[in-house]
Amino acid sequence: MNKTRRIKELTNILNEASQAYYQENREIMSDKEFDELLDELQTLEEETGIRMSNSPTQKVGSEVVSALKKVRHEEKLLSLNKTKNLNDLRSLLKDQDGVFSIKLDGLTISLTYENGKLVQALTRGDGETGEDVLHNAKRFSNIPLEVSCKEKFTVRGEAVISYADFLKINGLLPPEEQYKNPRNLASGSVRQLNSEIAASRNIHFYAFQLSMPNKHFNRKSEQLPWIESQGFETADYFIVDRDNVEETAQWLIDKARNYKAATDGLVLTIDNIGYAKSLGATSKFPKDSLAFKWEDESIKTRLMAIEWQPGRMGNITPVAVFEPVELEGTTVSRASLHNVSILEGLKLGIGDTISVFKANMIIPQVEKNHTRSNTYQIPFYCPSCGGGVTVKKPHESKILVCTNTSCPAQLLQSLSHFVGREALNIEGLSYSSLEKFVNAGIVSSPADIFKIEQHKDKIMSFPGFGERSYHRLVQNTKKARKVSLHSLIYALGIDYIGRSASKELCRYFQNDIDAIINADVESLLNVPGFGSKMAQSVSDYFRNSRNKALVEELLSILEIQEDKTSASRVSGKIFVITGSLEHFQNRDEMERFIESLGGRLAKSVTSKTDFLITNDPSSGSSKNRKARELKVSVITERDFLSMTGS
Ligand SMILES: [Zn+2]
Repeated sequence: MNKTRRIKELTNILNEASQAYYQENREIMSDKEFDELLDELQTLEEETGIRMSNSPTQKVGSEVVSALKKVRHEEKLLSLNKTKNLNDLRSLLKDQDGVFSIKLDGLTISLTYENGKLVQALTRGDGETGEDVLHNAKRFSNIPLEVSCKEKFTVRGEAVISYADFLKINGLLPPEEQYKNPRNLASGSVRQLNSEIAASRNIHFYAFQLSMPNKHFNRKSEQLPWIESQGFETADYFIVDRDNVEETAQWLIDKARNYKAATDGLVLTIDNIGYAKSLGATSKFPKDSLAFKWEDESIKTRLMAIEWQPGRMGNITPVAVFEPVELEGTTVSRASLHNVSILEGLKLGIGDTISVFKANMIIPQVEKNHTRSNTYQIPFYCPSCGGGVTVKKPHESKILVCTNTSCPAQLLQSLSHFVGREALNIEGLSYSSLEKFVNAGIVSSPADIFKIEQHKDKIMSFPGFGERSYHRLVQNTKKARKVSLHSLIYALGIDYIGRSASKELCRYFQNDIDAIINADVESLLNVPGFGSKMAQSVSDYFRNSRNKALVEELLSILEIQEDKTSASRVSGKIFVITGSLEHFQNRDEMERFIESLGGRLAKSVTSKTDFLITNDPSSGSSKNRKARELKVSVITERDFLSMTGS
């Protein structure tokens, strides 16, 4: 087996084994086997110079940047001329061979390596200037951070997120933060300021182009295997000529429909590099390549209704309901219209003939209204509470918003977020039981969930609620009173504040809720990973007296816990920090964090020291030497963070 392939295989096997061991408490190989494979990997890495981003022999630390720097591309990135006509593919080839591949639908990234190391990662941007996303590229799931080739070269490729991950990640985000399609998610993830977020998104990179001034290749079909030999993955490609290009296209289209990542077409490029260059380029497109976009399968149907779905923040989203049709193998009868602007643009009326298609072959969309009767009237009351609504335009699009702050639909959405597994984690409170409680007037705020005992008789009279399920629910609400501050903050459902932002917020303010409540926008902007929208949103939330009252009431009911894992592992332990830090802004910040978890700090390593924290464990510094002598645990900043569950 070739060495590059073996390196990747070992990397994956070892990662799987550690995950099974550490996260699932399952052993899939003995320690001895593990060590042997790790040795083999280390030897191969040294031999070839190739080291993957997810190699267990190294850990990439997290990094937070304050903004994405704009950087000029050394070589302009042209876009591709597009066609929907298979004949054009044959005309491009004439008597030449072509390289035909699936075109992935993500964000184009350009990776530059120098002296065998990844030194730059830029987004395509406008083709001339891109954004520096090196901190996130280092956390892609499948690229080499070190390669055997010491010459400078640049690899271009597509950063993508698979459908399966797209559905999973979107499921964890509140509705307003969800992404429309895998491409938007990939783009949003690659452009994060905090590399931890990018790392959690399982971004894959598929290379399609090489630029390397000092090495001569005759054919594109020689470049791609060379790229692979350095540790990259490429999208599937095939050599074709004018006689089989159309047949191969049909075959690739079928393949693309079930591909590992979102696809948006095929790309055909002339194989002979000398000939390709001689063709030159227009101001926009190279003349040696053509992107083939297939038509999305779209089907006509009849609009039967428009439903309005209330969201947590009072947004009410229109959904088209139409006569069921078969699309890409499934029956579809609903498609989100996203907002009022799109609805108005389609000039809809009930009974209109519309065309629907599946964007990226998964998400149903209304493409076109053929009859455009324009008779539909936007409701002037909330479909849920009957209260007033208003049309707002916070960004480019108009949205419908319920103005009743105690609208049960809004309340239900925020309650179901509040009790969710990532938030207060109260089992036994499904959406439908919450709905019963809200309708019966038992629960009108998150705090009421902890007072359900006052309504025992009423609850027990609900169909499906027996003595046992009632008691279990009461037990669960009691259990949920013990909660970490960051879970509570997340549970509040503050705009733009997801899981990791809540953690960062609590870490920055050392779990001091009063400090968080009173923080102004300026100080919130100092929280790692916080941009102006997030800072403004937190500040606005706590300026609102209703919210403030809710938080105060919750604090009087709940018992805020130190993070269980973090507190017990750090509490009472003595730490020494040496060298530069990556995640924390400076040593001071890290020391305050350790102290907030009950840990203690010392300046020098002694036999009493429990942990030496250093990002360079192999350095010969005196602290490192001392730690080794005294057998003190030496851990990296990253190890420390995982120890605290961050
Ligand atoms: Zn309402």
